[in-house]
Amino acid sequence: MEQSSALAVDAGRNALPGTVPNPEAARRRDVRAHRAAIIFALFLGMAILGLAEWQALKLLPDQVSVRLLGHSLNIRQLHQRFANNAALIFFLLPAALILEGAIVGWTRCSARQLLFRPTASGKTDVACFLLGQAHILDVAGRLLMLGASMLSGVWIRDWLASTFGVSINLGPLPMPLQVVAYFFVYSFFDYWTHRLDHSRLFWPLHRYHHAADEFSVVNATRQHPAAFTAIFFINMPMAVLGAPPAVILYVNVLTTALGFVIHSKIDSDFGWIGRYVIQSPTHHRLHHILDISEQPAGHFAMAPIWDHLFGTWRGDADQSLAIGVDTPYRHGFWVVPDLLRDYLDFWKGFIPRRRATP
Ligand SMILES: [Zn+2]
Ligand SMILES: [Zn+2]
Repeated sequence: MEQSSALAVDAGRNALPGTVPNPEAARRRDVRAHRAAIIFALFLGMAILGLAEWQALKLLPDQVSVRLLGHSLNIRQLHQRFANNAALIFFLLPAALILEGAIVGWTRCSARQLLFRPTASGKTDVACFLLGQAHILDVAGRLLMLGASMLSGVWIRDWLASTFGVSINLGPLPMPLQVVAYFFVYSFFDYWTHRLDHSRLFWPLHRYHHAADEFSVVNATRQHPAAFTAIFFINMPMAVLGAPPAVILYVNVLTTALGFVIHSKIDSDFGWIGRYVIQSPTHHRLHHILDISEQPAGHFAMAPIWDHLFGTWRGDADQSLAIGVDTPYRHGFWVVPDLLRDYLDFWKGFIPRRRATP
């Protein structure tokens, strides 16, 4: 601030008589123009994606069958899956990009970096996002984990209900309170699943997410397709605790949006909110720096209250921390070699290690 006012004074001294230059006002005009350009570009992008998705829906059948090694794999309700993703593409991702751009400015925002100066790590994030939209990672995950993800929350919920008659209901609460309550339930199980991801066995699969050497909004979607720990624990407990489908949907929208925000370049710790209620980008950055090895670290929870309760709170951080892992990655749009290497490392983890001789 002081520096810019000093510049303004200097500029005033050197100005020609009769002109009143105001570099600060010009800078603000520039920032406003940049913000308008970001918002315009993103809405244009949303319109193009909307047209592409509408066309894809017209061209795609609603069901696809693939025969593999004598077994047929049915992918049903393709249109429904596309419609679900539409919310993500048309609302959450653009909203997160716009929010980040408006806060950190055009020169530092993810949209500009990914569009005009993509790094190898950024290209991997974009590739993962696109493969996720096309459900290619989804199908790959099912094949890689031998169908483990088929044991979805619905199956477990039905089994629990019929075996134990479990039925807890927060139904009488108003909808916003239910969303908040179930967000903490979600985050509790997400916290433990995430700690499992950082255990020796599961780390090679979760390492893929941590391999990003810079944050960008789409970094949230960079997940190894075989990383299935979350499947068992994320939505199922909410369903068991009686969350209606609409509440589960809202909590998922909230956590997806939060995922985008915590991987953004927004340099904020959200004050007391970031300390107790929702994780902030700087705290999540500290999680990414601390996890350069398979040792347990900190800041696992989307609701940091769980980190405080279970002793994994590591204090405050800032956006200048370098992030990444110590395992080398090729990165880039061609994601297959890194995905396969991590997948093999995961299975190698089951081979008993020979004790190192002293
Ligand atoms: Zn992690
Ligand atoms: Zn992360």
